[in-house]
Amino acid sequence: MKIDLSELKNQPGGAAVFALTQEFPAGWLERDGCFLHSPVTLEAEVQSAGHSFSVGARVTAELRVVCDLCLAETVQPISFSFEDEWTPAEYAAGAEREQLETALFFAKDEVELDDRLREFFLLHLPMRFVCRPDCRGLCPSCGADLNAGECACRREETDPRLAALRGFLGESE
Ligand SMILES: [Zn+2]
Ligand SMILES: [Zn+2]
Repeated sequence: MKIDLSELKNQPGGAAVFALTQEFPAGWLERDGCFLHSPVTLEAEVQSAGHSFSVGARVTAELRVVCDLCLAETVQPISFSFEDEWTPAEYAAGAEREQLETALFFAKDEVELDDRLREFFLLHLPMRFVCRPDCRGLCPSCGADLNAGECACRREETDPRLAALRGFLGESE
């Protein structure tokens, strides 16, 4: 994904909006159990501030993920915003570049965004994926998907605290 800043570069104080959509390989995010399911859309407002560009961007895509609880595959939308600073490499040499270590440097007039975009994706991915808020997961004994219904071992299972409570309630009646 590339943004051409050759025009904006000659307009100090100017701003431009870029809307880009690009398809990446499904495994592009390089995270286990998490794949791109749609092209990635980026909307970026880029402001020229002298020798650098300040950027506010919004990213949207769909992910195909594996539920951490029941291991089912599910498609989930993701969208997030980020702010960034892009600096032409020619304006930041040596020591100055070290001071600006959070900035993205680009050569010529074109910003190559792929690696930067992946970094922001990884920052904004949830710690874990759940197929739905009330996912019941797998039975720890037999591995059955409890979303599909109770399994045999679960019915036999008795919680000692519940049994005690039942006994107590029974006696009081
Ligand atoms: Zn699930
Ligand atoms: Zn079971």
